[in-house]
Amino acid sequence: MQSKQALIAAALAAPLLTSAATAQSPVRWKIHDMGRPVPPKVVSKPQLPVPPPSDAIVLFDGSDLAQWRALDGSAAKWTIRDGSLAAVPGGGAVFTRQGFGDIQLHLEWAAPTPARGKGQGRGNSGVFLMGKYEVQVLDSYDNVTYADGQAAALYGQSPPFVNASRPAGEWQSYDIVFRRPRFRPDGSVEQSARLTVFHNGVLVQDNTEVWGPTAWLQHLPYKSHPDRLPLQLQDHGNPVLYRNIWVRELAEEPRPGPGMHQTRPIATMTAEMLDRYVGRYGSAGQQPAVISREGTTLSVRFGFGAPLEMLPHSSTEFSLRWTAATLIFDLDPSGMPTSLTFHIGGDARPAAKLP
Ligand code: MG
Repeated sequence: MQSKQALIAAALAAPLLTSAATAQSPVRWKIHDMGRPVPPKVVSKPQLPVPPPSDAIVLFDGSDLAQWRALDGSAAKWTIRDGSLAAVPGGGAVFTRQGFGDIQLHLEWAAPTPARGKGQGRGNSGVFLMGKYEVQVLDSYDNVTYADGQAAALYGQSPPFVNASRPAGEWQSYDIVFRRPRFRPDGSVEQSARLTVFHNGVLVQDNTEVWGPTAWLQHLPYKSHPDRLPLQLQDHGNPVLYRNIWVRELAEEPRPGPGMHQTRPIATMTAEMLDRYVGRYGSAGQQPAVISREGTTLSVRFGFGAPLEMLPHSSTEFSLRWTAATLIFDLDPSGMPTSLTFHIGGDARPAAKLP
């Protein structure tokens, strides 16, 4: 039989074991776990270069590094070779002079050839959104490394769905849609950053949640930062090439709130008053619109469509609750509708009340 002390010790130990076993981690896999499944290979043949659309900010078109700087603000230490921007090992990262928040980013890159090194040492660079959140650049065509660190991974967090890599020396593309994190005034996180990535035209990250700044070996917590920060390209000691870098700044995502649905004063009408509008309205060559009443709600129906709820604003004007359309009625001296005009999308469609 166990002593009283042993029972107490066991009781104290039990919760500790339980809490260790159920500790919450944001991932099933440990960071850089070599056992994490490797994304399957997909053969992609992108048509490159992709020309920038008219509203893009061109960050590198092959001619100069005017848009870029080194960490300390001095001139970027990378070189331009045959219209490509080449990372210079030991030259340090390069940063855009302009800061960005929500963006669509396009860039093209090529791993050095002949390929040298292995794992994380082979064609390593990186696209750091806001200088903090890395989409990995790596020669992953035929190169074993941890899944959360291969090309197009959100580094240390989220592997790409598939491996769409091209061989070293071939141009590859990233198209990234990035939504910055939102912080509350007290510095806490209101909304995590999110990103979507196409690698060589293949979807590899779909609105992936970013847990915080990406880092080697660890998950870092978010720290409140400005809404706009420079884009950074990493120097990881390999002469990776870049070209055709452009961004489109994205508008803030609309949030639900007043103004999404304009509120206009709604007139109060009895069932008896509403019944005057009930009936069929038509014109030659068009299916009649049918107005019906249920309780104190009028609806209009076009053809086989669903009934659309009508809101009265006056005896002659109604709008639709969910659609930007109005119905203007003509009334006879006794107040009975004789016709209506349906206004939708800049069109006005008259229809006479049918007997
Ligand atoms: Mg990297």
